[in-house]
Amino acid sequence: MEFGIIGAGLAGLACAELLVATGHSVRIFDKGRGPGGRMSTRRIDTPQGQASFDHGAQFCTARHAGFAAQIADWTKRGVTAPWPDAGPDAHVGVPGMSALVADLAQRHDVHFGTLVKGLVRDPASGGWWMVIDGNRLGPFDAVIVATPAEQAAPLLSLHAFPMAREAAGVTSDACWTMMLAFDAPLDLPWTVHRATGPDATIAWAARNSAKPGRADPRSGAPDCWVVQAGAAWSRQHLERDATDIAGLLRDEFTALAGKALPEPLVATAHRWRFARPASRSAMALWEGSLRLGACGDWLSEPTVEGAWASGQALASTILARAKAA
Ligand SMILES: Cc1cc2nc3c(=O)[nH]c(=O)nc-3n(C[C@H](O)[C@H](O)[C@H](O)COP(=O)(O)OP(=O)(O)OC[C@H]3O[C@@H](n4cnc5c(N)ncnc54)[C@H](O)[C@@H]3O)c2cc1C
Repeated sequence: MEFGIIGAGLAGLACAELLVATGHSVRIFDKGRGPGGRMSTRRIDTPQGQASFDHGAQFCTARHAGFAAQIADWTKRGVTAPWPDAGPDAHVGVPGMSALVADLAQRHDVHFGTLVKGLVRDPASGGWWMVIDGNRLGPFDAVIVATPAEQAAPLLSLHAFPMAREAAGVTSDACWTMMLAFDAPLDLPWTVHRATGPDATIAWAARNSAKPGRADPRSGAPDCWVVQAGAAWSRQHLERDATDIAGLLRDEFTALAGKALPEPLVATAHRWRFARPASRSAMALWEGSLRLGACGDWLSEPTVEGAWASGQALASTILARAKAA
């Protein structure tokens, strides 16, 4: 079958991996400018060279056998490396978190910068078309929606009400993220700070430059930090202007550091409106009569590992049902 996949995050790509390995063909469409999704790496030019920030997922774990095997392969090929600062089972992409997604994306037919606005099905042939800026792409024998739940619901709603209802029932926490870079290494006694309570303004702060494979600030590269606000604070400030948020989070980071900080080279805030959904156990959705499916972290757990497992689970379900038919 020829599959069309909407969303080239880790879930969509993990699904594509298994489908292609079993002889199916896959075309993937993503509205983003490049690989990453919520595992993106932002690069910003400064007078001291490029500053680089993992402004979505900070690291991943590999607690399930399938994903552990994937991490082992990536580590062997230098795509990931352990990052003990975040815990004994923490792994990061090299040179950025987006490396994991980029590695899978380059093996498939992925079209970035392509926002899919809707789906149309021809009832006679059962074929699917994707609506893209007034044009149609297709036909596809089957379509997989691999976007966050809030973006999946409108795509599914005209065709599969039960699937759309599942997606519409999900609410994700937002996350305001601050990227800070300094011209010399900050003198702080810690590399990673995690909040102890759910209501903290800063949930996470870490020296991005301390991750393996990043440019070293001790050799003159910018010292890059990522600061993530807590879910409650992010929700409360969701519609505030990014410039205001940058000012507020900079003040909070200074308070956390406990001393005055130098003027930053970069101080930019990014809003993740749908950062992390609540955990679910469905793993994936597949409506065989329509040849329409959905995967993503919103169907498993809100982690890198959860997204990968959901994509693989969807492909396994499709293959098992095809075999049984
Ligand atoms: C701030 C933040 C911190 C996090 N920290 C961690 C962490 O430390 N560890 C961890 O394990 N996980 C973390 N996560 C969660 C992790 O990033 C996600 O669980 C995982 O990346 C989800 O992958 P996905 O493929 O399901 O979705 P996504 O990565 O969101 O991919 C979906 C893709 O769909 C595309 N898309 C959406 N709508 C359309 C459309 N209509 N047309 C075309 N394309 C579309 C998007 O551009 C996106 O690329 C964090 C997430 C955030 C936001």
